[in-house]
Amino acid sequence: MSSVLVAGAGGFIGGHLVAYLRKQGIKNIRAVDLKPLKEWYQKFDDVENHQLDLRELEACRKAAKGMEWIYNLAADMGGMGFIELHKAECMLSVLINTHLLMAAKEAGAKRFFYASSACVYAADKQTTTENPGLKESDAYPAMPEDGYGWEKLFSERMCRHFREDYKLETRIVRYHNVYGPHGTYDGGREKAPAAICRKVIEAQKNKTGEIEIWGDGQQTRSFMYIDDCIKGSTEIMESDIREPINLGSAEMVSINQLVDIAEGIAGVKLKRKYNLGAPKGVRGRSSDNALIQKLMGWEPNTRLKDGLSKTYAWIKGEMDF
Ligand code: NAD
Repeated sequence: MSSVLVAGAGGFIGGHLVAYLRKQGIKNIRAVDLKPLKEWYQKFDDVENHQLDLRELEACRKAAKGMEWIYNLAADMGGMGFIELHKAECMLSVLINTHLLMAAKEAGAKRFFYASSACVYAADKQTTTENPGLKESDAYPAMPEDGYGWEKLFSERMCRHFREDYKLETRIVRYHNVYGPHGTYDGGREKAPAAICRKVIEAQKNKTGEIEIWGDGQQTRSFMYIDDCIKGSTEIMESDIREPINLGSAEMVSINQLVDIAEGIAGVKLKRKYNLGAPKGVRGRSSDNALIQKLMGWEPNTRLKDGLSKTYAWIKGEMDF
């Protein structure tokens, strides 16, 4: 690969991907995001940086021109608090992927990566806390997360048909909750690990001694550390894995256990206040990693305790505490 476009490079995963590709010695990297450059989580001056709205076809043409490999990590998204209340905005990301696929085809790109999500999985497979792990086949019959999940499932399908009909090699990865430094931790788009770290830090800073938890805290999830996400994403991009594949941790914890870990890192014990009216998503979700193990002989394996310690330290530094 000699030229790489990272769409959504001002965001959490996109920023880490650009950092990784630079370290790999790739010289021709184009980084694109909707946000003004000063708001990007990570920005590198030796990379070609552009602020573009990739919902527009012309902007996608500019972004894709001359690029051999294209990673699409751009989407209007956030944690449950955002996607449950902004369904139309989430669905409009369909414009980004559609126009970027069209531009990639026109530009003669060799490979196209699409960041899908565990939110494509059918709701009836996630009704209990003891989720055995979602298999790739659990996406159909389709009943994904309303709004955000439908957009992801549709865009997965569009990637497949661009590959079949136009011979554009596409790779589709279903991320399960990614966390780590240089990501959103406040403002309404943050996800559970960053939100919990921030709340634990705030409780100490403001000496409240308590923490608000969305739901009853018994809902279960798995969380993948960013380094595993980047390793998996780049290796899947380079592989011949053409069908959608899970990229997530199989270390399932309840939200209460996530709070236990964050409290342990901080060395505090807080009184828990459960907000049962807050957005809480499905009851139980984890990643079944049999397919990635079979095809790659590896699965995301950073222990939650280790990844969360690094994330906590970064957020604490950002909050100047
Ligand atoms: P993020 O919000 O940090 O990054 C997405 C970036 O896309 C943002 O910087 C945003 O400004 C940019 N963007 C939005 N609209 C745009 C537009 N019209 N034109 C150009 N750029 C635009 O999110 P992230 O966590 O880095 O997620 C990256 C991708 O991975 C997304 O597609 C997301 O849906 C997917 N994903 C993430 C997770 C996770 O846990 N982080 C889980 C599942 C799937």
